[in-house]
Amino acid sequence: MVIIGAGLVGPVAAMYLARRFGPVTILERRPDPRRRAGRRGRSLTVMLSARGWRVLSDLGLAEQVRAMCIPLHGRCAHLPDARPHVTPYSRDGQPIWSVERERLHHLLLDAAEATPGVRIHFGQRVHAVDLDEPAVLVEDQGSHRRLTCRHILGCDGAHSTARAALVARGARAELRNLQLAYQEVEVPAGWLDRSTMHYWPAGDVLFAAFPMASGAFSGSLFMRRDGPAPSYATLNRGRDLFDEFAARFPEPTATIPDLAEQLATSAVSTLSLVRCDRWVWRDTFALLGDACHAMAPFMGHGMNCAFEDARTLVDCLDSTKDWAAALAAYERSRTEDADAISDLSYQHYYTMANPPQDQSAGAKGALRKRLVDLFPDRFVPLYEQCAFTEASYASVLRDDQRLDGLVEGLLRRHGTGLVTASDSQLRACTPLARNTVSLEEPGCS
Ligand SMILES: Cc1cc2nc3c(=O)[nH]c(=O)nc-3n(C[C@H](O)[C@H](O)[C@H](O)COP(=O)(O)OP(=O)(O)OC[C@H]3O[C@@H](n4cnc5c(N)ncnc54)[C@H](O)[C@@H]3O)c2cc1C
Repeated sequence: MVIIGAGLVGPVAAMYLARRFGPVTILERRPDPRRRAGRRGRSLTVMLSARGWRVLSDLGLAEQVRAMCIPLHGRCAHLPDARPHVTPYSRDGQPIWSVERERLHHLLLDAAEATPGVRIHFGQRVHAVDLDEPAVLVEDQGSHRRLTCRHILGCDGAHSTARAALVARGARAELRNLQLAYQEVEVPAGWLDRSTMHYWPAGDVLFAAFPMASGAFSGSLFMRRDGPAPSYATLNRGRDLFDEFAARFPEPTATIPDLAEQLATSAVSTLSLVRCDRWVWRDTFALLGDACHAMAPFMGHGMNCAFEDARTLVDCLDSTKDWAAALAAYERSRTEDADAISDLSYQHYYTMANPPQDQSAGAKGALRKRLVDLFPDRFVPLYEQCAFTEASYASVLRDDQRLDGLVEGLLRRHGTGLVTASDSQLRACTPLARNTVSLEEPGCS
C-alpha cells in the first residue's frame, strides 16, 4: 500500500492500515522535518477535539500527546475599553487541547516509523497517480521511477497531486484561496492567562494567540489578501502594516518588542478551500484530509476531520473484505460531513472577528441564547457539539439550522417581546416534541 504525504493524516492512516493489512510505504516530497534546524513550519498550534482524541486513543498515543498539550477552557475576547470577555468552550467546563503542530507532527512520524510494516521515504515527490494499475510515478533525487502497489491513499494536502488523478476521471474538484491571509507573530509570555486562547476582534482584521509550552503564545494576524484597505495588498509590509496593527491592537503592540520586525519578515500564508465530489476510485484509491476537504481554520477542525476520515476508512474496511464496497461506503459517509464542517469553519470567522456581545445582540441572537440556556439538554451549542462529541458534522449543521428556523418562527409569531418574556412564558411558547430534538414550527398559544 502506498500513502502519498507524511503530513498530519498520512502517518495516522499508515498506523491504522499497517496493523490490519501489512506493509505501507509513505512517500513525502519534503525532507524529514525532524532533522530541520531553525525556523518552525506554519501554524504553530492546533486544537485537538473529541474526534482527534478518539483516533489518538485507538493508536495508543493519547497519553503521550496529552502530555504536550495545554488545556484551554474558552476564548477570551479583548476589546478596546472593555474587560476581557471569556466564552467557555463547553457548558460543563471541558477544555479543548492546544498542541504545537510541529511537536505533534514529529510524534506521529516517530510513532508511524515504530509501527511494524510502515516505512516513510522523505524527499520523494509523487508526480502522477495511475488509478488502474495502480501505481505512482515518483521523483527520487532527480530521476523518476514507477512504483506499483495494490492500493493508494492520497494524503497530500490541499494542493494534492493525487486528487488530480480523480479529476482526470471526471471528479469535480474546487480549490480556491480564501480572501483572508495570515501571518504568524510570536507573543511573549507573562501577560496573558494561559487557560484560554486570546483574540482581538476588529471586524475586518483579527489577531488571535494560543499558549505554547514555552510560556510564549503563538499569534496569528488574519487580514484580507487584497481588495480595499486594510489588506496585505494595500499595506506596505514595513511601516504601514505595523501602524495598522498598532492602531487596531494596542495591547499586543505594547508587549511584543520585535513586532515591527516580525510583521515585516514573517511569511504571509494563504488559506485554501478544497471541495471534491469524488474521494475514491474503485478498490484502488482514496483521498483523505486536506486533499479532499481543506477548510478555513477558524473552528479548528481540519486535522480532527482528517483523523476522523482515517478512522472511518478503516471502519469501512473492517466491515467488509470487498475494498470497492468499503471505499464507496467511506466516500458516502464522509462527503456531506466534510462539506458541513467546511461551511461551519468559514462562518466561524464572523464569531471570531466580531465582539462576542454582537452575536447575542438583536432579537434573533438574544432569543437563540435564551433557548440554549433554558433547554440545555435540547440545544447543545454548535461549537460544543463539534468539539466534544463525535456527532456527524452534517447533523450538527442541520440542528443549528433548525434552531435558527425555530427562532425565526417564534419571533414571527410572538414578536420581539418574547426575548424578554419570563422563562415560563418562553417554555410555554417553545414546541419541543417529547422525546426528540424536533424543532417543528409551534402550534403554541
Ligand atoms: C492557520 C491554521 C490553523 C489550523 N488550526 C487547526 C486546528 O486548530 N485544528 C485542526 O484540526 N486543524 C487545524 N488546521 C488544519 C490542519 O492543519 C490541516 O487540516 C491538516 O494539516 C491536514 O493534514 P493533511 O495531512 O491532510 O495535510 P498536510 O498536513 O498539508 O500534509 C500534506 C503532506 O503531503 C505532502 N505532499 C504534498 N504533495 C506531495 C507530493 N506530490 N508527493 C509527496 N508528498 C506530497 C506535503 O509535503 C505534506 O507533508 C489549521 C490550519 C491552518 C492553516
